[in-house]
Amino acid sequence: MNNMTSFNQNVSSTWSGDFESPIKLPETADVVIIGGGIIGVSTAYFLAKEGIKVCLCEKGYISGEQSGRNWGFVRMQGRDEREIPMVLESQKIWRQFSSETDIDTGYVEGGCLFTANDEKELQSFQPWLELAKKYDIQTELVDQKTLRNEVGLASNNWVGGILTKTDGRAEPQKATLAIAKAAEKLGAIIITGCSVRGIETSGGSLSKVITEKGSIDTSTALCAAGAWSSYFCRSLGISVPQLKVKGTVARTNPVETKINGTIFDKKISIRKRHDGGYTLAHGSTFDHSITPSTLYYTPKYIPALINEFNVLKLSIGVDFIDELNAPKKWDLDKESPFEKNRVLNPKPNKKTIAQIKKQLGEVYPELKDADIVESWAGMVETTPDVVPVISHIDQIPGFYLSTGFSGHGFGIGPGAGSTISKMILNKPTIDLQEFRLGRFFDGSPIRIEAGI
Ligand SMILES: Cc1cc2nc3c(=O)[nH]c(=O)nc-3n(C[C@H](O)[C@H](O)[C@H](O)COP(=O)(O)OP(=O)(O)OC[C@H]3O[C@@H](n4cnc5c(N)ncnc54)[C@H](O)[C@@H]3O)c2cc1C
Repeated sequence: MNNMTSFNQNVSSTWSGDFESPIKLPETADVVIIGGGIIGVSTAYFLAKEGIKVCLCEKGYISGEQSGRNWGFVRMQGRDEREIPMVLESQKIWRQFSSETDIDTGYVEGGCLFTANDEKELQSFQPWLELAKKYDIQTELVDQKTLRNEVGLASNNWVGGILTKTDGRAEPQKATLAIAKAAEKLGAIIITGCSVRGIETSGGSLSKVITEKGSIDTSTALCAAGAWSSYFCRSLGISVPQLKVKGTVARTNPVETKINGTIFDKKISIRKRHDGGYTLAHGSTFDHSITPSTLYYTPKYIPALINEFNVLKLSIGVDFIDELNAPKKWDLDKESPFEKNRVLNPKPNKKTIAQIKKQLGEVYPELKDADIVESWAGMVETTPDVVPVISHIDQIPGFYLSTGFSGHGFGIGPGAGSTISKMILNKPTIDLQEFRLGRFFDGSPIRIEAGI
């Protein structure tokens, strides 16, 4: 392997272009959405489908942050039970979306394999197998012989695994943009390069959303601001426990192998890409840079920290000072912190890339000669129980929050968008009790069922 070129070759060029935004804000909207990731655009799509006048404001580019940087796994396998109804809904949407809208998301059902390097790991899949049975998800326990047929030479490293053939993958650099374009076709107004600075209330209820391009009269807003949600909400006096971890990702040039799906392996996880290459990531390394938020929220994160102890690489540095110095409030008629950071674009971890390079051929012998042609990183944001918040915020009637999708919000994104739209329209299809923000403050036990 050789020739690792720097970030900005492909991932950023796809999110920086290809979306023409109207220049002018509407004066009014039924619903304003803050954030153009997969959650925001999917919600906009389903609201617009119902004839709702929706305006989405994105400070940078559509899918510029997590939604355009992820691994591209669209999986039911290994989910927390609380997410299963939404992920089943999501699968239906992924399956139909491209044919229904004539816009390609890159969705393919090539299966998802979790590998076991030893018997203990194989046993650890048992709770999921029971859950899969309960929800009629076709996950099978696979032995080495079956693996050899599915993935070729790589199977020699594993004693077995679990495989859900109906799981899929999609192209992060395409899918969110595709959904945004489909939402626009249905009448949603999507404005990029437009930070939301804050909101105004009238008689205690939401009445205006203030952006850098002007204000919009509305009675309803959804904060789908990903890694910025906690910071945004804090400026409104709402506490949202949220911490960020950095994931480093890379891709190879096109390579012919037997592997046609997604594989989660503790050393290296991979996904077959539309361009014939593979997206690669270290299966068990996330970087967390300690900030004042880490210290503040640690008591709520103890179960998650114990669960992810071997996965997290902790450090402390300039992020601590930056967060300490970040303004807590700002004037809504002046430049806000969101305009100063249009795209959260963390640097990939060089050590992680070196590790991927070293181990790629060992884990996947058929990829031993592949070149790593690009690398990037993304900030995954997570809640204390690693399950999202999808909630009305009672302190501000008309204000909703949807965030904390952790490392699995891409696959569930369309289903979450549909669910959130129904919540806003007050026609819920899925019970959202388990997703309320209040669970972190009302003494409910923090229950962890799945990883980041
Ligand atoms: C490295 C990595 C690997 C992952 N792998 C997978 C995977 O394989 N499968 C999977 O299902 N999930 C995966 N995920 C998780 C998934 O990408 C996220 O859960 C999902 O994309 C979250 O979508 P979102 O819309 O909530 O947030 P984002 O995509 O982060 O979007 C939020 C948007 O809000 C905007 N914004 C913030 N503040 C403001 C403001 N004030 N005004 C206007 N706009 C604002 C931001 O600019 C941003 O574009 C991964 C994530 C990462 C980072």
